Amino acid sequence: MIIVYFIGTGGGAPNKRGLPAIMIRREGFDALFDCGEGTQWRMMEHNLSFMKIKLIGITHMHGDHVLGLPGMIETMGMYSRKEPLFLMGPKELKEFLEDIFKKTYFYPNFEIQIIDKYEDENIKISTFETCHTIESQGYLFEEKDRLKIDIDKLRKEGIKDWRVIRMLKEGKRVEINGKVLLPEDYLIVKKGIRIAYTGDTGPCEKVINAVKDVDLLIHDSTFIDEKEAYKYGHSNSYDAAYVALKANVKRLALFHISPRYDDTYEMLIMAKRIFEKTFIAEPLSYYIIRQKE
Ligand SMILES: [Zn+2]
Ligand SMILES: [Zn+2]
Repeated sequence: MIIVYFIGTGGGAPNKRGLPAIMIRREGFDALFDCGEGTQWRMMEHNLSFMKIKLIGITHMHGDHVLGLPGMIETMGMYSRKEPLFLMGPKELKEFLEDIFKKTYFYPNFEIQIIDKYEDENIKISTFETCHTIESQGYLFEEKDRLKIDIDKLRKEGIKDWRVIRMLKEGKRVEINGKVLLPEDYLIVKKGIRIAYTGDTGPCEKVINAVKDVDLLIHDSTFIDEKEAYKYGHSNSYDAAYVALKANVKRLALFHISPRYDDTYEMLIMAKRIFEKTFIAEPLSYYIIRQKE
């Protein structure tokens, strides 16, 4: 099971929706994507600990996506964090943080590891290029596929012995009651959950290709219907819906909503006309994705 916490979902200037910040939690692994100003405050106020965050991914260097990061890292230091923090982001990020840390006399006693991609036995986090006014990258959070034994099939064949199940799982052939069981006949692939977050982007082919078939796409939806969206490297809600449709995703969350919209009803309707399974990423809401059995 994966929980996606929409901490801040507005874009641009500080506003009541908060600035971009999404936490993805999977079995004790917390990753934060973007860290707009005020993110640590919003998390504290809503009892979401940022001390346990293992990885932070920043999409690009515009202030609404990154200005909350130095403060959050300094707080981690004040509370004596020991665990290393993995950091992904554009090339300017390292120097930006080093400058601030130096000028605020902050010397973290935990390691900050800058990485391009992350992988462990359960998940993979990688980036893809998006189409914004400055260099910007989206993130793909992917659970690895797992092999599972088809217990129901075995039961139907009258096999309940756990030693047989274990051997099949280990890829071994088993002889039982004069019959040979081949592991490939009883293994099923349990597909991992995949989530994509674009950060700021206009609608573009690169994004469509990168987010194909994801379970949840969190896409820039700054405006409802503005030509100037493209000038500023953003999307209208129907653009996000069109990307979702072309990429064949399962669900679309509209994100980075301009503070000019108090009411998002029209935005949602515009998108739903193109891609029905759309919702507004409401600030301080969460979304649960469970793997299909
Ligand atoms: Zn932005
Ligand atoms: Zn931007």
